[in-house]
Parts: sequence; C-alpha cells; structure tokens
Amino acid sequence: MPFPSREWHLVARPVGEPTPADFSLVTATVPHPGTGQVVVRNDFLSVDPYMRGRMNAGGSVIPRFELGRVMEGWAVGTVVASRSAEVPVGATVTHFLGWREYALLEAAEVRTVDPRLAPARRYLGVLGSTGLTAWAGLTEIAAVREGDVVFVSGAAGAVGSAAGQLARRLGASRVIGSAGGPGKVRRLTDGYRFDAGIDHRLGELPARLAEAAPDGIDVYFDNVGGDHLQAAIGAMNRYGRIVLCGAISVYNATEPAPGPDNLPLAIGKRLTLRGMNVGDHRHLAADYIRRAARWLADGSLVADETVVDGIGEAVHAFRTMMRGGNTGKMLVRLAHG
Ligand code: NAP
Repeated sequence: MPFPSREWHLVARPVGEPTPADFSLVTATVPHPGTGQVVVRNDFLSVDPYMRGRMNAGGSVIPRFELGRVMEGWAVGTVVASRSAEVPVGATVTHFLGWREYALLEAAEVRTVDPRLAPARRYLGVLGSTGLTAWAGLTEIAAVREGDVVFVSGAAGAVGSAAGQLARRLGASRVIGSAGGPGKVRRLTDGYRFDAGIDHRLGELPARLAEAAPDGIDVYFDNVGGDHLQAAIGAMNRYGRIVLCGAISVYNATEPAPGPDNLPLAIGKRLTLRGMNVGDHRHLAADYIRRAARWLADGSLVADETVVDGIGEAVHAFRTMMRGGNTGKMLVRLAHG
C-alpha cells in the first residue's frame, strides 16, 4: 500500500532572509518499497544552517536544492515497510531524505541506530553530524591540547554547545563562548560549564573578548564568521589555531561580505586557519558516538534541544533557527496517526 506523505518544496530562491513564500508544502504519495528498498516514517527532521546555501542558485558545498522539488536533510525515523533483510520493519534509522513525512530509500542509504543507547532524536544532534562536527573540529582540525584557552562562537547552538563542553574534556584550561542574549549567555556558564560568556548582541566584541580571555586565546572554533572572526584574530596567541566551521552571520548576505581587515596579524602570530567539512571525518563517528552517549548518560555532556511540532512548522523552525530562536539543536517532531 502506498504512503500518503507531505513534503516541503523550495519554490523560489530566497533573496536575503528566506520568507514563507519561498516554500510550499506539497502532498505526495510514497510507493511501497521495491527489492532492496525500505520506507521510513520520519519521526524527527533536522533543520540546519548549511541548508541556506543550498537554496541559492550557486549552491553550497553540496548541490543546490532544485526549484519545485522536495528538499533534503537529515532525518531519523522508523522503518515501516521493508524489502531488505538488513533493515527490517521497526528499525530506527537516520538518512538524508528529510523535509518530508515518509521516505523511500535504498537500504544502503540508511544507517541503523540504537535507540537503547540514546533517544532517536539525539542522532540528529549531539550524536549526529552536529556533535561529530564539534568533535572533529577540536580533535582533527584544532588538535586541542591540555591548557589551551578555547573560544567558541554560536556557543548556545547545536555545534557550539557541544564544542565548548568537549574542549573542556580535551583539556582546555579556559572555555569562552559567545551567544545572542542574556538567557543564552547564562546557559553557557550555568548549563554547559563554560568559564565565561559574551553576549554578541551588545557589540564591542574585541573589548569583551579581551576581558573574558585576559591571556589571549589558543583555539577559536568559528561558527559565525564576520565580526567574530575579526575579534578572534585580534585575540589569538602565537601559534593559535582557528577552526573555520561556519559563517552564519553572512549566510543571508546579498552582497559579498568583507573579510577580516586584520588578517595580516595571522602572519606574525603564526596562526593556522583551516576550513572543515564534517563529511571528511565520518571515520570518527562510531567511536565518538560511543563516548558521547556515555557522557550524555552520566550527565557530563549536556545537549539542549528546541523542538517544534508538525511538518507544517518545518520552514518556521528553519527560519527561527537562523534568527537565533533555538538553544541547542533545532528539531521538528512529526506527529503520526
Ligand atoms: P545553531 O548554532 O544551532 O543555530 C544557529 C545559531 O546561529 C543561532 O541560534 C544564532 O545563535 C546564531 N546566529 C545567527 N545569526 C547570527 C549572527 N549574525 N551572529 C552571530 N550568531 C548568529 O546551528 P548549528 O547547526 O549548530 O551550526 C552552527 C554553525 O556550524 C553554522 O555556521 C553551520 O553552518 C556550521 N556547521 C558546519 C559544519 C561543517 O562541516 N563545516 C557542520 C555543521 C554545522 P545566537 O542567538 O547565539 O546568535
């Protein structure tokens, strides 16, 4: 029997901030699986900043979304029909056909996860790509070591909140984060045990960073770019390492964004600035998931989630996340039946 499903299409390329008119919720029918295929009922969808780049005509690190077609993204769900011995009905799986209620996939395109280790939704956040981004950025890109002073921007978000806590676990002597608004800044120190938080909405980042890191910073985990990257370059110590993870401050820009005007400081300070893509670090995933699941269970790793209900709210969830309306991972929970 086919599965009636609703799915989000991109219908116009956003100029600046995406508006609801750029998207359309469309009714579709997902067929019964063929040999080697499965149908997954998506239980949670992930909305992520990189999706903004895929909405542009030029695309991003992965191909652009096509107009009039269903969008993609990470999702976790339950197999409801299967013609694959490896992935039976009832299995909990992650895959990349989000933005829809039901997905037809080759069995090889899904990854079975263990819902006894942690609730399924965790595999979209701290135990998924976002957690792995933080871990890989700290271990393989920055090579954080004992005694480092680490600054994380976007620190109350999904990647940032994990990065700060994992940096501490890797031996950082001082962890500083920036986030938007007093509530989030409080969460950094009270919830995630950062040493200091900076409210970027108050401006004067260089002065606030100098106050929070009087001995300078050794590692900057950049989720924001723009003013944050510039302030961090100014505060870096010699031989400092900068993880260029994201630049959300310019994702909606309609003109090319200016680069930091203090980049020459990187020469004298012997800085390393290195871009990263989590896709290059999948080999770390199994080991990272085992460790992080243990830390979650014993309470030494805190992972907040902001959950919005219903497929109809997915675009709203994406727009809200881009504006800072989330703490921790932004998720869409789908109600069924
Ligand atoms: P997130 O941090 O949970 O959510 C986005 C946050 O960005 C918002 O909550 C908001 O927090 C902040 N923000 C928005 N506009 C801003 C601005 N102009 N200045 C400062 N902060 C702003 O999202 P995430 O999924 O964890 O992603 C964080 C970053 O990592 C993004 O840049 C993303 O592209 C990047 N990323 C990269 C990779 C990779 O492989 N390189 C993988 C995953 C994610 P505030 O309220 O605090 O402003």
